[in-house]
Amino acid sequence: MSARPDQPASGWDQATFRCGQCGAQRTATTEADYVRAISAHRDAHAVFDRLNEVERNGMGSILRVLLEDVTLSAELLALITADQNHRNTASPTSR
Ligand SMILES: [Zn+2]
Repeated sequence: MSARPDQPASGWDQATFRCGQCGAQRTATTEADYVRAISAHRDAHAVFDRLNEVERNGMGSILRVLLEDVTLSAELLALITADQNHRNTASPTSR
């Protein structure tokens, strides 16, 4: 008896999480992925609850652009980091 290549190595087949707050469903094939999916969804609810409607719309627009293009996201982060470093070294703050 040999394991099929498409079967997970552990005893897990798959597990589905259904959120009691919003009804979202997430399916995972390993226990680690299941825990990660639940944790991420719970954290997303925590962030969502802190934002008002305008902030949610803005965040949604930003995330749609950034998640669609990982290279753009990396380049934008590099520009922001370089700008922050430049500001920290170019203009000493008065205390
Ligand atoms: Zn939810």
